[in-house]
Amino acid sequence: MTDPTDPTDPTDPTGPRLEPLPADWQRALAVVAHPDDLEYGCAAAVADWTDAGKEVVYLLATRGEAGIDTVAPAECGPLREREQRAGAAVVGVSTVEFLGHRDGVVEYGTELRRDIAAAIRRHRPELVVTLNHRDTWGPAVGGAWNSPDHRAVGRATLDAVGDAGNRWIFPELLAGHGLEPWDGVRWVAVAGSPTPTHAVDATAGLERSVLSLLQHRGYLQVLTDRNPEVYCREFLVGAARAVAPRFGGVPAVAFELFPR
Ligand SMILES: [Zn+2]
Repeated sequence: MTDPTDPTDPTDPTGPRLEPLPADWQRALAVVAHPDDLEYGCAAAVADWTDAGKEVVYLLATRGEAGIDTVAPAECGPLREREQRAGAAVVGVSTVEFLGHRDGVVEYGTELRRDIAAAIRRHRPELVVTLNHRDTWGPAVGGAWNSPDHRAVGRATLDAVGDAGNRWIFPELLAGHGLEPWDGVRWVAVAGSPTPTHAVDATAGLERSVLSLLQHRGYLQVLTDRNPEVYCREFLVGAARAVAPRFGGVPAVAFELFPR
């Protein structure tokens, strides 16, 4: 349960105030493990960014093919890829790439770092977004253990930002693929962190974030017996409102920001 005295709880109204996430950038790359990772909270911020004319690209380590118990991976992967592309389109994202790592057993290591570094060099973002790389989700959700794929992809993303800027790490990216180093990433913003520092106003993007999560229909069908629209709205509106006490009373998406 939530401990109201815990200073790391993003929903604790007496916790430190969250700062507005920097907005002086043009290109972002969002790197997560699974289809729906960005829709569970982040999409309202993405809608806000694309409304402002910024470019956002999604990069998924897996196709989420192990996510539905009743659907075999060979069928599930393409289904979830379609749902992810539809969810991205709702918030103004037209480029969605998949690295094809195996769902559920993504390994932190040089292969994953290299794949992410290659994408950073291709897309040249100033802001990189990822999902909680820490062991747990923090006190707001009872300290629940985070998934191994999220931990691996989040940590590899934080590390790959440095790799992307160094020509001598993964030299094959330049020699074999013509990918010049890109050292222009200024921040990594981690969504779902138990220790957030910044936030983005979710007011304008909240309805579209609901619609974005709703695109994952095949997945939601097995996740909940409830009306999918009611489920998505309650979850996302509740999460955004929970951040409000630490962000001037405004519903928001919280991030832990790592400047470079
Ligand atoms: Zn996930």
